[in-house]
Amino acid sequence: MKDSNMNPSRRRFVVSAGGAISAAALASVLARTAQAADLPHLSPTDPTATAFAYVESTAKIKNPKFVAGSDCKNCNFYQARNSNAAYGPCLIFQGKSVNAKGWCTNYVKAA
Ligand code: SF4
Repeated sequence: MKDSNMNPSRRRFVVSAGGAISAAALASVLARTAQAADLPHLSPTDPTATAFAYVESTAKIKNPKFVAGSDCKNCNFYQARNSNAAYGPCLIFQGKSVNAKGWCTNYVKAA
């Protein structure tokens, strides 16, 4: 059925339903973004962080497992890869945000 043949009340319903779904999706994305920004930063002295040798910056890292260019920002577990945020959520350290320029021994290069 062409749009021009659609019943006007049905067309209004389709348009308003689409708008409602888009608004709900946008609200969900905004809520998640705000939540991520609110997460406390993972401290390198946190016992969980020290267990995985987490560092906030790879600039002076001495860990033999570190490979140059392996920053949180390009790790598979980093959840804010497409943003320019300095910190973002990490699937390994739930409830905390990690430094985009950080690293830990769980690093896995993002595909
Ligand atoms: S798992 Fe990846 S994103 Fe999370 S702290 Fe380690 S290197 Fe960074």
